[in-house]
Amino acid sequence: MRIAVLAHLQDVGEAPVREAMGLMAQLGGEAQTLLLAPAAQPAVAAMGEVRLGVHAALADPDPEMAYAAALRLLGDQAPGLLLMPEGPLFEMIGARLAGHFGMSAVRDVDAVELAGEAVVLRKGAYGGKAYVRVRATGGVVAALRAGAFPAAEPPAGSAAEVQLGELPEGGQERKTVRDTAGDDLGRAKVIVSGGRGLGSAEGYESLRPFARMLGASLGASRAAVDEGWASPAQQVGITGRKVAPELYLAIGISGASQHLSGMSGSRLVIAVNRDEHAPIFEAADIGVVADWYQLWPHLQKALEG
Ligand SMILES: Cc1cc2nc3c(=O)[nH]c(=O)nc-3n(C[C@H](O)[C@H](O)[C@H](O)COP(=O)(O)OP(=O)(O)OC[C@H]3O[C@@H](n4cnc5c(N)ncnc54)[C@H](O)[C@@H]3O)c2cc1C
Repeated sequence: MRIAVLAHLQDVGEAPVREAMGLMAQLGGEAQTLLLAPAAQPAVAAMGEVRLGVHAALADPDPEMAYAAALRLLGDQAPGLLLMPEGPLFEMIGARLAGHFGMSAVRDVDAVELAGEAVVLRKGAYGGKAYVRVRATGGVVAALRAGAFPAAEPPAGSAAEVQLGELPEGGQERKTVRDTAGDDLGRAKVIVSGGRGLGSAEGYESLRPFARMLGASLGASRAAVDEGWASPAQQVGITGRKVAPELYLAIGISGASQHLSGMSGSRLVIAVNRDEHAPIFEAADIGVVADWYQLWPHLQKALEG
């Protein structure tokens, strides 16, 4: 079966692309990596045999442009399995590409097997409480969950740059509001997330120096986002981001199922909550029953010392 990886490098960063390439190598068969970027990328040189579609406008592509660019890289014949890291490119064009080639589109995929001409994919369901196995024939575009697959070893081969030529622009006037706050959550090794228990915007801000000391990214529960303390891009959960860090620290978060489903890929979970019966403790490897504001000065001292 022909398998291809398709990604916009700036959208998702290098790690999810390497994970998709790792899965592709593991599945075997005829493989191809197709990347979109606004200019030649030094990082691509170490990625082996890659076709890099370059166009300056891909710094901020609209769906028309991204779709046309992807079709030019893919050519007339779609692969049997198209792997895309979950992110803005899949959101923009994943379903449209699938429709164009008569393929299925499946998102939140964390396991893939080939079964003859069919592809069997595992995806999360019911907010991560269950898994569903989907058997797709006739081709599939799969959006891969960040952190679900081991990254590829740098393969042999070199990158070929493809000039994409004229690309169409969407007819609508666009205003791009780019919220970069949660950009790094998908690939963060450590995440400190704050919830309503922090009590105020200033309380949430107290997590910032803590996160900085740990080299962590800042996440949030939906309650903290609804309060306006954190940006929607930082929300972890069923209607937010799915994250898979080595360490997830949940501070003042009760542990609602909708939040847990976003953090269930975390390797180690530490929760701080003043209510010993908070459900977050059932999901935590280490639970600290404490008021954050009493704990923080001690932590600060220990970390600074
Ligand atoms: C359709 C739907 C989708 C949703 N999607 C999401 C989602 O994607 N992500 C998400 O997070 N939620 C989501 N929610 C909301 C979810 O159900 C919860 O309401 C939300 O997660 C609660 O946020 P929280 O834990 O910060 O607040 P709370 O539930 O209010 O919990 C605050 C916690 O802080 C503790 N606390 C209070 N003061 C302190 C202190 N000083 N020190 C330490 N601990 C303290 C309390 O004991 C409490 O456990 C969704 C809900 C619905 C219906």
